[in-house]
Amino acid sequence: MSAKDSYEIFLSEYKKNIKRLGFNTTYHRDLVLKALFYSSSYINAKQIKEKIKVEYRVDMRLSLVLKILLFLEKINIVSIVAIPEQKDKKYRLLHHAGEGCFVCKRCGRVEEFHDKNFVLLLQEIAKKHAFKIDIKRIVIFFK
Ligand SMILES: [Zn+2]
Repeated sequence: MSAKDSYEIFLSEYKKNIKRLGFNTTYHRDLVLKALFYSSSYINAKQIKEKIKVEYRVDMRLSLVLKILLFLEKINIVSIVAIPEQKDKKYRLLHHAGEGCFVCKRCGRVEEFHDKNFVLLLQEIAKKHAFKIDIKRIVIFFK
């Protein structure tokens, strides 16, 4: 299966889901989704805007990109890392997001990791302390 095929599958699933939620797809929403789908890690709104400009030859306003990201956040299909030190937020489709990521407070670099054992271990530790936790993703900051 080519990457393009899997995007088509993702897009048709997404379209079904947002229709069920009572929303419509729009040309610009689809572009933001596509940029997120084809990014290899967490990216911020400016990087998304740039990617859309370079790869799809569409010049979107940053405010529109941000508005669409807020929408994607609301319908719960993106994972977000907020980096207060950088006054920045980075986004990744939940479809692709790993179990966790390391975030550098100094430069804002986000390094994703895929490790289901990590989440299981945390749940195990929590259980010992009589906590039931519902962790899907963990963000670890360092400087
Ligand atoms: Zn750094």
